[in-house]
Amino acid sequence: MNIALIAHDKKKQQMIELCQKYEDVLAKHTLYATGTTGLMIMGATKLNIIRMKSGPLGGDQQIGSMVADGKLDMIIFLRDPLTAQPHEPDVSALLRLSDVMCIPLATNEASANIMLEHLK
Ligand code: PGA
Repeated sequence: MNIALIAHDKKKQQMIELCQKYEDVLAKHTLYATGTTGLMIMGATKLNIIRMKSGPLGGDQQIGSMVADGKLDMIIFLRDPLTAQPHEPDVSALLRLSDVMCIPLATNEASANIMLEHLK
């Protein structure tokens, strides 16, 4: 499967811990991430990640383009709902498109855990 990983700044540590917990599972799939999220995951695990641009610089839109092209099977997007994001329109567009294309999308750690357990 092609899986995209994105985490807002205050959720990046949570994303790293999630990727460490499910490293064996994730290693069997092709992983994509926004720039900083991908860099941090690669620094903390042995996972190979194809990195897009940083989210605020267009990375969310690049992931959205993959969704539109039917190239993604799952998205884990750990959002920070308590902090205003400068690229909120890009975030909304990605979430909307994921629903349009009916892509499994986890926006918090609890749902991400359930989806990754399912992949085991
Ligand atoms: P980042 O982007 O991984 O480059 O920080 C994530 C985001 O804010 O969408």
